[in-house]
Amino acid sequence: MLRWLRTLIPAIALVWMSCGIHAADDFAPLRAKMINDIADLTAETFAATGRPAIDPRVLDAMDQVPRHQFVRPGEERDAYENRPLPIGYGQTISQPYIVALMTDLMMIKPTDVVLEVGTGSGYQAAILSTLARVVYTIEIIEPLGKVAQERLQRLAYKRVNTTVGDGYYGWEAHAPYDAIIVTAAASHVPPALVRQLKPGGRIVIPVGAPFLTQYLLLITKANDGTVSTRQILPVSFVPLVGH
Ligand code: SAH
Repeated sequence: MLRWLRTLIPAIALVWMSCGIHAADDFAPLRAKMINDIADLTAETFAATGRPAIDPRVLDAMDQVPRHQFVRPGEERDAYENRPLPIGYGQTISQPYIVALMTDLMMIKPTDVVLEVGTGSGYQAAILSTLARVVYTIEIIEPLGKVAQERLQRLAYKRVNTTVGDGYYGWEAHAPYDAIIVTAAASHVPPALVRQLKPGGRIVIPVGAPFLTQYLLLITKANDGTVSTRQILPVSFVPLVGH
């Protein structure tokens, strides 16, 4: 009996491990292609963004996070195409290139405390959590926030903390933040977010009217508290609602 167990247990462990490896490998080529597409687009948009290349740490993060786990069942293979996908409630998971660009602009250090407004699928939060010390993310649509929270727990993104609420007001309890990202378009920069940003910190946010031209903005707060804004690229986001 004991001998039988001794051979069976390693065999089970091997099958279990190879299943894990297999699951990761299935999408690895699609992920590699996604990273290539991001690099190509970065080169094409260089004149506008001023960024010749995405930080390799950001690309690494995008290579690690299984994007197919953040889309609706049956759409796993589409997850790696360079376009947004619906996630329910009229919302979308942002396109990979925009996720890469916004994350890159945040210039996250491993010690950073980061806030995300607009959890959606939880994908951007997962990417941020591989680069930062801790991520706080807030979602206004409760069922979306719940699903994202469960997904992030299941996939063991332990550095992400989720809540449901109106992110226009930030998340005061954990402020100040080293970097803030807003993944829905606001008509103006929410003043609370500027207040909750550390001196030396950065906000990446799309600003503009729904269905009209929106611009991705990079807002920096200097050490003396002076705020400056740079316009990066025309973009198209779902609106920041509430407030
Ligand atoms: N970052 C997400 C993309 C989400 S799309 C991802 O990686 O999948 C934008 C999200 O912002 C939507 O889920 C929308 O419900 C949410 N949102 C809109 N207005 C908000 C607000 N005031 N506070 C918090 N979330 C908001």
